[in-house]
Amino acid sequence: MRPFEHFTVRTTEEAIELLGRFDGKARLIAGGTALIPALKADIFPNYPKALINIKEIGDLQFIRAGKEGLRIGTLTKLEEIAESQSVKKDYPILQKAALSVGTPQVRRMGTVGGNICQEPRCWYYWYPHQIGGRIVCYLKGGRHCYALTGENQYHSIFGCYREANRPVACVEACPASTDVPSILEKLKGKDLQEAARILLDVNPIPAVTGRVCPHFCESECSRNGFDE
Ligand SMILES: Cc1cc2nc3c(=O)[nH]c(=O)nc-3n(C[C@H](O)[C@H](O)[C@H](O)COP(=O)(O)OP(=O)(O)OC[C@H]3O[C@@H](n4cnc5c(N)ncnc54)[C@H](O)[C@@H]3O)c2cc1C
Ligand code: SF4
Repeated sequence: MRPFEHFTVRTTEEAIELLGRFDGKARLIAGGTALIPALKADIFPNYPKALINIKEIGDLQFIRAGKEGLRIGTLTKLEEIAESQSVKKDYPILQKAALSVGTPQVRRMGTVGGNICQEPRCWYYWYPHQIGGRIVCYLKGGRHCYALTGENQYHSIFGCYREANRPVACVEACPASTDVPSILEKLKGKDLQEAARILLDVNPIPAVTGRVCPHFCESECSRNGFDE
């Protein structure tokens, strides 16, 4: 692993203050069962400058069942969820899900917060840097999602939330910012009227520009390398 600073905090306020101080270059660490392997494999293009250990924050490890439902503190271990009688009785699917994670050692150390916030369990994302260089896929700021046509079993369904607001490559490349994916979607649904409306919204003379434009959108298409 590469060197990093290590802080142990006892309150959420301390953790928030440190996160702000490092301005996106620090990571929280709870059980460490997901983060430490990621650091060892050196999968992040931006290696964290500091780790902030939150395990000592006292009031974040609890399971409380009440009229409004179930409340689980972020530092609660997966093992505690799997063994909780109230979870077993009223939320058996949650109990089964906790029990299905990894091994007893992982469940004993791993927290529910870390489980939700872990990096996507994608083969390409986790490819170790030591073996031929890390794979900079779409989620790491690259242009391609290799899982699209490659290995894509067992992937986290929450993984891409961070990229939801990232500009689409072809739209960004178009000097008129034409919403190419929406137009193609409408054409696919045979809604020519709506496709034309989206296009004319940003470009009143598409028949002219279509003849002179060198098609920046095509060279930036995220499906390049996959299709013909
Ligand atoms: C052998 C093995 C098998 C595994 N099998 C599975 C499996 O079957 N299913 C599965 O889902 N996972 C699996 N995991 C992944 C993972 O270890 C566990 O899901 C575990 O719950 C992660 O929790 P943690 O506390 O160890 O997280 P950490 O490693 O401490 O943190 C993981 C990530 O979450 C962030 N984070 C942690 N806590 C918080 C918080 N409170 N707020 C904001 N961010 C936070 C960290 O910054 C880090 O990016 C496996 C791991 C191993 C090593
Ligand atoms: S963008 Fe694709 S390759 Fe990258 S983590 Fe997500 S599914 Fe995996």
